[in-house]
Amino acid sequence: EAKNTQGASFKLYDSSMNLRAMQKVQMESEARIALREDQFNLALQPLIDLKTRKLVGFEALIRWHHPTKGLIMPGQFIPMLENTTFMLELDYWVIAHGTRLLSDLNGNGYQDIKFAINVSSAQFTDPSLPHFLQQQIQLNKVDPACICLELTETALVSDLARATKIMKSIRDLGCKIAIDDFGTGYSSLSYLKALPTDYVKIDRSFVAGMLEHKDDQNIIASIISMVSNMGMEVIAEGIEEAAQYDMLSQLNCHQGQGYLIGRPIPEANLWNHLKEYVDNKIWTRPFSVLND
Ligand code: C2E
Ligand code: MG
Ligand code: MG
Ligand code: MG
Repeated sequence: EAKNTQGASFKLYDSSMNLRAMQKVQMESEARIALREDQFNLALQPLIDLKTRKLVGFEALIRWHHPTKGLIMPGQFIPMLENTTFMLELDYWVIAHGTRLLSDLNGNGYQDIKFAINVSSAQFTDPSLPHFLQQQIQLNKVDPACICLELTETALVSDLARATKIMKSIRDLGCKIAIDDFGTGYSSLSYLKALPTDYVKIDRSFVAGMLEHKDDQNIIASIISMVSNMGMEVIAEGIEEAAQYDMLSQLNCHQGQGYLIGRPIPEANLWNHLKEYVDNKIWTRPFSVLND
């Protein structure tokens, strides 16, 4: 009897593992087809200088337009694709597609626009990243200084010496580096000193709490002052309210993004609105009114 029960529970555990593994395999194969069939594209979220209110550039955010399921957000597929060989392919597609888009903008008279591209942990440690990036920069004739790679803390802390080496090779190309979602991982301000970084992005959870919680406000203030003293710039993400914008600006946070300033715009719509984004130069009302 006891043996049977054990056997049954083992089987149950085993089959649930198989289910997860199967879902992963299925997601990977669906995503592979999706890439071939051009179902992925980018949404661009504006990034502005908080003091001057000028447009600095855009963060490229991947979107999956599934023919039957509709719009699928990265949170629904990126975690599932992590550690698959396809995730790397998709990451490289984002770099190739993003630099081409930037080149199109340059070709149409829009210069000095920064493009922030998210890099997964797997891509960050992939030996071909620096060379691929360099190839795409040359192929698309874009200014490397306009490309900023966003890395998360988790990708960096596992091997600081290795991370530093990779970051140096990326910066040697002339590209910029941002630490994304700062404050959610190990967040040691001392490791920031060791890492060759240009920007630190404060995670939006702190911004979300900053008006109500003195703790969040204090954390933000100390990140800004320490990062600034180290000669780097701070970007706040998730600015949704004018009062957050004002407080961040008073705390001398350099740049910001968030729904208040503008939601991510599908790349196909970017062209319709570029004149307003770029020619106006100064943000005076939510860019989100231009959104679909
Ligand atoms: P992230 O890099 O921290 O990107 C910011 C996320 O916050 C985006 O979600 C953006 O739409 C959202 N956001 C911006 N402003 C606001 C705001 O004011 N309020 C709120 N509530 N949210 C705001 P999204 O596009 O769903 O992306 C989620 C995450 O997926 C990203 O977080 C990033 O880690 C990952 N991701 C997105 N695109 C890519 C990509 O091309 N490659 C890789 N490897 N990861 C990506
Ligand atoms: Mg990011
Ligand atoms: Mg972020
Ligand atoms: Mg975030």
